[in-house]
Amino acid sequence: MNRQASGRLAGKVVVITGGASGIGRAAALTFLGHGAQVVIGDLNGANIAATIALARASGHGDAIAALRADVSREPDVAALVDLAVHRFGGLDCMFNNAGIGGAFGPIGETTVEEWDFTFAVLVRGVFLGIKHAANRMKAQGRGGSIINTASVAGLAGGAGPHAYSAAKAAVVNLTRAVSAELAHARIRVNAICPGFIETPLATGPDHAKYERFVHDRQPWPDLGQPQDIANAALYLASDESSFMTGQIMTVDGGITALGPNAFGHDPQSRMLRKAGFNAGSTGEAGSLRDVPR
Ligand code: NAD
Repeated sequence: MNRQASGRLAGKVVVITGGASGIGRAAALTFLGHGAQVVIGDLNGANIAATIALARASGHGDAIAALRADVSREPDVAALVDLAVHRFGGLDCMFNNAGIGGAFGPIGETTVEEWDFTFAVLVRGVFLGIKHAANRMKAQGRGGSIINTASVAGLAGGAGPHAYSAAKAAVVNLTRAVSAELAHARIRVNAICPGFIETPLATGPDHAKYERFVHDRQPWPDLGQPQDIANAALYLASDESSFMTGQIMTVDGGITALGPNAFGHDPQSRMLRKAGFNAGSTGEAGSLRDVPR
């Protein structure tokens, strides 16, 4: 263990899947900056190398290790945990974050292979991460924190393709179910539901189109950044959240609070230009007045 380090994660060893890009990379660099030792697992070798270069540039080259790993394969996930144990002496936090968009298009066009592949990465990958992390943490006897990246798409329809939405909903409830089972061992299990976060997965090739899409749906004026999710993960990985388990933390710039979004969030929308009282079908009189601008 890195007992010399200081910071909110001093002395903690963390595995981050999908740690070579977007949210996972931001979390890796943030956790390193807070004193953790970090193992990243990812399929993308070039992005692994780029992430390690960034860690070195920030003076944390000795505290990061990486493995090219596929989270849908059990030996690969077991190997990530083994690497954390052999290189850094144990495992305190598992961040099951790797993800893909998966199957898309009309459900009548989706093949069984596309459906199964989506679930293999997004659900089996999280299951395997929880399984191997929990076994290691139980053996160590000092508890731990497991964090799963779900999505606002797992909370309602309309925020992602059907298979992705179903898979993320599975991650949400797997989180709750397993948290109860592991609480006696002081292993906390929580999930983060990001909204629209500016990563290669979300933006696609046309950035202007992405910005318009988000601004039409999200009340908060700024685009969500990988760092916004890394900050939430930092809290869940740290002892500051030591009484928090089985929870789903939504970090989405107000998208889900907006609900059906029937009237939008434009301050000039017709719901906000006037004030008064709608008495519905009571037969009582309502009232209507202009709102000063
Ligand atoms: P990203 O594409 O930048 O990063 C995802 C990483 O996961 C990539 O490095 C990729 O190589 C890796 N990966 C994919 N499949 C893998 C596998 N089988 N094994 C190992 N690594 C694999 O995307 P991101 O936005 O940072 O996504 C991170 C997580 O956040 C995903 O679970 C995604 O579903 C979730 N999420 C993202 C958004 C968003 O708007 N960006 C919103 C909600 C949820």
